[in-house]
Amino acid sequence: MKPAHPVTLQANARIRSELDFADQRDFEDAKRGFVGTIQDAYIPADAGGVSWSLKPYDFLSGNAPDTVNPSLWRMSQLNAIHGLFKVTDRVYQVRGFSLANVTIIEGDTGIIIVDPLQFTEHARAALALYREHRGNRPVVAVIYTHCHRDHYGGVRGVISPEDVHNGVAVIGPFGFTEGSFTESILAGVPMRRRALFQFGWSMEPGPMAHVDCGLGKAVGRGGDGFIPPTKLITQPTERHTIDGIEIEFQMTPGTEAPAEMNMHYPDLRALNLAENACQLMHNLCPLRGAKTRDALAWARYLDQALEVFVPNTDVLLVQHHWPVWGRERIAEYVAGQRDMYRYLHDQTLRLMSHGMTPKEIAAELMMPNKLSKQWFTRGYYGAVAHNVGAIYAHYLGPYDGNPANLNPLPPQSAAAKYVEYMGGSEAIIRRAQTDYDAGNFRWVVQALNHVVFADPANRPARELAADAFEQLGYQSESATWRNSYLLAARELRIRKSASAPGGVSISPDVVAVLPFGNFLEYLAIRVNGLKAQDLTAKFDWRVVDGKAVDVHRITVSNGALNHLPGTHGDRADAVVQTSRDQLPTLSAGRTALLAALDKNELHVTGDVQLFRKFLESLDEFDPMFNVVEP
Ligand SMILES: [Zn+2]
Repeated sequence: MKPAHPVTLQANARIRSELDFADQRDFEDAKRGFVGTIQDAYIPADAGGVSWSLKPYDFLSGNAPDTVNPSLWRMSQLNAIHGLFKVTDRVYQVRGFSLANVTIIEGDTGIIIVDPLQFTEHARAALALYREHRGNRPVVAVIYTHCHRDHYGGVRGVISPEDVHNGVAVIGPFGFTEGSFTESILAGVPMRRRALFQFGWSMEPGPMAHVDCGLGKAVGRGGDGFIPPTKLITQPTERHTIDGIEIEFQMTPGTEAPAEMNMHYPDLRALNLAENACQLMHNLCPLRGAKTRDALAWARYLDQALEVFVPNTDVLLVQHHWPVWGRERIAEYVAGQRDMYRYLHDQTLRLMSHGMTPKEIAAELMMPNKLSKQWFTRGYYGAVAHNVGAIYAHYLGPYDGNPANLNPLPPQSAAAKYVEYMGGSEAIIRRAQTDYDAGNFRWVVQALNHVVFADPANRPARELAADAFEQLGYQSESATWRNSYLLAARELRIRKSASAPGGVSISPDVVAVLPFGNFLEYLAIRVNGLKAQDLTAKFDWRVVDGKAVDVHRITVSNGALNHLPGTHGDRADAVVQTSRDQLPTLSAGRTALLAALDKNELHVTGDVQLFRKFLESLDEFDPMFNVVEP
């Protein structure tokens, strides 16, 4: 790792002079109502080692070092504040114990847990901290604001499936389970690899490495689970009384998550805007990848909340970061958040209508001066340049409309031609060095990417590209950009990191509630099309769950797997029978399925060889596929 380049020093100095670092209100708010915490927020992992600890982030004190954008440094310090906080009477939050916050509402007989964090250990530790200070109140309900894992994965740390059986309500927005499945299962493999870049998971903390994730300090590690909602909120607004607490739900589908909802607690004069109004500019498409989000809907729901809820609100809380107190400030905050997404949306559409394409819009679009000076609009997680691309794609898809980009050579072939046209890799590296010295880091990584894709073994190209990526990381205000750039540098220098978190199989809890049709989708995307193109087969697959039998008919033809509930009857080539309990093991993929067939754990009657041929056509995926090299 190299120190900050003079041009990086200048860029970071500019940020320091442009923003009002004397404004300390956010630090006061982030500490307001502090009740207590545990040392360094240290949480051991059930499987051994550390689940969560802020100790390695002790370096985050004082002024920003040269290698961190000062604005991001400020957010990194705010996200290092941890503990149990009183938000208002009956409302508490544990912050800094996980990427997200858990909100705890005291009902008449027990507590309502809003968003039980990402990992079992995090949620359990947060609940224990709360109980240490507020007494051993029972959990009477769990509410998920939305279908992202950092808000529900730790649910087993606060309730068990037996608790649900005994009457603990689990409430979520309509589409919760489907939203969670589509995001984490079908596109799960590339999403997890890309998430490594977004969150900087495998990077060590340090002023030249990981400082933050924007939404919170880090991801952490631990056990996770899935308990599906027993009650869904379906109407645009719904009012319910839960353990004496009146809650008005506002559904906000298509915003930060496909299934999400805000909540107003009128008697407590508190408004919970879920993840729709965190203390930053959010993503309209995260760097890990997702279906693009609807900026217009996002702005509209915030506008409704401003009109309907804010007049009866004294404190605004969100499921990341700290609350905002005082009606005037809340109104300014919600209006500012609304205007930010509305502005991004409308201005991108305006520039699109002038014929501009995503990269051109990104270079041109500036946020209005007053709004961009507000700390809560800064791009610690999202970024203007990336969000305009997401809005463009939301309306027009990934193609920019220029036929030169309709069918370009793929990266490796194009790279070979670029290198040839540009006079060979040595000439490119020489010129790139001059541009590096001048601080043109964006161009250096763009040009050297061709050299690395043409010849991944070219050491000098990898090193110089890594140097430039590092400087881009040091300058980034967005934590997700910083993490991406710094991991790119690291993978160019030392090849792929060995510290990939987790495997590719799905959590057993998820498989346990997964509709079998979704499991078949999971298999369908593993069919190697060309390998299977001559395979024509009809299978019935029976899933036995106690006394219930769920039968699906699978048709394989032209390398495609289609399926429907029901049976092929006597036209089935083979009938497969499994128990529901086997599915978690089988979800590991081809090897597990073939092993189960060999051991007779997959009960197959009929043409067993044909079924085996089908299993043999399935691909297995490398969760650490290459990103910065071919
Ligand atoms: Zn979140």
